[in-house]
Amino acid sequence: MYQALTCLAFEHDYTLVGLAALICVTGALTTVRCLQLALETERSRQNFWIVASAVAGGGSVWCTHFIAMLAYDPGVVLGYAVWPTLMSLLVAICTFSIGLAIFVRNMRAGSVIGGSIVGAGIVALHYLGMSGVVIPGQIVWNVTTIALSVVYSIIFSVLALTLVRHHTGNRGQILASLALVVGVVLLHFTGMGAITIVPDPTMALEPGIPGYVLAFAAAAMCLFVLAIAVMCIMFDRRLAFEEKQNRQRIEHMAYHDALTGLPNRAFLLQHIEEKVQRAKQGESEVAILAIDIDRFKQVNDIFGHQAGDDLLKNLTLKMSSILSPNEILARLGGDEFIIVQTDTKQPEAAERLAKRLLDVVSVDAVIQNVRLRTAISIGIALYPRDGEHADVLHSNADAALYRAKQSGRNCYRLFEPEMDLAQRARRTLQIEIEDAFRRDEFELHYQAQAETATGVITGFEALLRWKHPVRGLILPGEFIQSAEENGFIVELGQFVLERACTEAASWDKPLSIAVNLSPVQFQHGDLVATVRNVLAKSKLDPARLELEVTESVLINDMDHAIEILHAIKALGVGIAMDDFGTGYSSLAYLQAFPFDRIKIDRSFVEHLHDNKQSEAIVRAIVGLGQGLSVPITAEGVETEQQQAFLAELQCTEIQGYLIGKPTPIELLAGHVRKFPASEAADEDKRRSA
Ligand code: C2E
Ligand code: MG
Ligand code: MG
Repeated sequence: MYQALTCLAFEHDYTLVGLAALICVTGALTTVRCLQLALETERSRQNFWIVASAVAGGGSVWCTHFIAMLAYDPGVVLGYAVWPTLMSLLVAICTFSIGLAIFVRNMRAGSVIGGSIVGAGIVALHYLGMSGVVIPGQIVWNVTTIALSVVYSIIFSVLALTLVRHHTGNRGQILASLALVVGVVLLHFTGMGAITIVPDPTMALEPGIPGYVLAFAAAAMCLFVLAIAVMCIMFDRRLAFEEKQNRQRIEHMAYHDALTGLPNRAFLLQHIEEKVQRAKQGESEVAILAIDIDRFKQVNDIFGHQAGDDLLKNLTLKMSSILSPNEILARLGGDEFIIVQTDTKQPEAAERLAKRLLDVVSVDAVIQNVRLRTAISIGIALYPRDGEHADVLHSNADAALYRAKQSGRNCYRLFEPEMDLAQRARRTLQIEIEDAFRRDEFELHYQAQAETATGVITGFEALLRWKHPVRGLILPGEFIQSAEENGFIVELGQFVLERACTEAASWDKPLSIAVNLSPVQFQHGDLVATVRNVLAKSKLDPARLELEVTESVLINDMDHAIEILHAIKALGVGIAMDDFGTGYSSLAYLQAFPFDRIKIDRSFVEHLHDNKQSEAIVRAIVGLGQGLSVPITAEGVETEQQQAFLAELQCTEIQGYLIGKPTPIELLAGHVRKFPASEAADEDKRRSA
């Protein structure tokens, strides 16, 4: 009689036991890693990793079992029956496949159901294998011990899968493999303890597969499991490479601009701060050059966004081509660029760079077969002279850029402290304007327009006034530009239109009403809809409304502006060209759109009698209007002499202090009502009676 358990300590070949342990551990690690990959990969690739895991798991447990059997040979094993031995391998791989597939696909009870099936598979492998051992004797089974071995196998398999589910990476792999190994070892030795062999030398036995053949088969299976392990390792390395690149790409995207590939705002602020810190320790100085492409919006609007993008790339290449290693170009968005330059000799180095940039950019760009003249404006701030920190330096470079743009663009300006003050004042003013609007401090004054020959009033121009509680009446020259810069003019302009139309609609006399429009109202918001709604709400006859635009409306984006002007004209509203003669290409604009009125700028009228040129210009403009059959209004008429001259020329209308200053509407009742206020009340009473 051989009591298996008691023989363990004495009758094992420890080299083979060690080998079995090595296979068991390697197999478990491979099984778990394949399983992790099955969980991590997309659904279409899951089956591959489930099968790989099942083969590694079933195969390695099978090898472990038989090598352990070879290690334990008390000298009575004659061989291994073919079918039970082969079936034990097949059953193991199949049950592993089913159990692992359930585990991978079923998130809820997958660990328990899948783990139980895997555990049962290991049990089946063990006892099927044992049943194939050819011994000259009877095997007596101890059912209780067998039951215990089944429980061990299932519990540790479920535990292993639970660990795979809840722990990722190396930690999950090691813990789960450990559970699997413990399960297999406990099952094996408990299972061995469950048998007692009663020798029977008289039994007629078929010898089966000899032990050394089985050893070869086990070795082959081991190699197969090892191959799967190597595949996992290679895949992992590729995965780690795939991940590293992703990380690098994400990092690159976080710090670079997708269009030009240049560093972006996030990178830049960090970079400036770093350079400043280094400059603090060393001798060098840092220059921040804020760069803006002149009239970029025009290119975008006229030629489309693709052309705009191409231009940005073109200028990026040009600017990059002249930079040294100590100069970094970044794009902040839109047409805003920044260069950070570290040099010992400032501002000379920055000025030199600015001049070279202006030069290189001035070479025409060919975008979509169109030759474009390009230019930039540059503002420069220097560390430590103009600021200690990235944000201050950036903001000061911006202030200098603003000055460069105001100085006619295509130039550079160095920051000066008064620019900062001007910038702050501008921002403060913008906030004040919005607050004042909410407090209802804006109102309209109306300036009469009259027939030149007779002086009969034909209409009024609405002019915006800010009734400041402390500073008194503020004229538009002081606040319109600020409101345009932050876009608030859109809201303010709508207010003017509503007020003026509602007011004019209430007049007894059907006089015309003129309202000024800002170019910004053409770029933002829906101007046509605004005009249409205001007309509908105020019930003003559209023919009485005249909207005044200056050339700047057309300069920014001619096609778009003309489209809007046509749509407004289609509503029955008149369009006047304001301040005529002061722009760059007034005549071209007259050709581009059929204006309903031309208003000669005040600057020509003002000098009618002391400047021959002014006289000739006014004469020419009036002639032009007559030729085009467009009425002409002369602005800024202050004297009877001017009026007489214009009357002689047959200029249609005049506007100016001579006829009347811009005035609150209450003081103009006599002009817009049929009766003065008191009489109007009487008239109302009479009518109602
Ligand atoms: P504008 O449309 O050319 O308006 C005429 C300007 O000339 C007004 O100045 C008016 O007060 C002034 N003026 C008229 N007659 C005479 C005169 O005989 N002598 C002199 N010295 N000046 C005269 P104001 O009201 O200061 O407006 C200036 C500009 O502000 C306007 O020029 C217009 O472009 C703009 N503006 C006024 N109101 C608005 C508005 O509601 N929206 C927009 N976008 N711009 C407005
Ligand atoms: Mg005007
Ligand atoms: Mg004007």
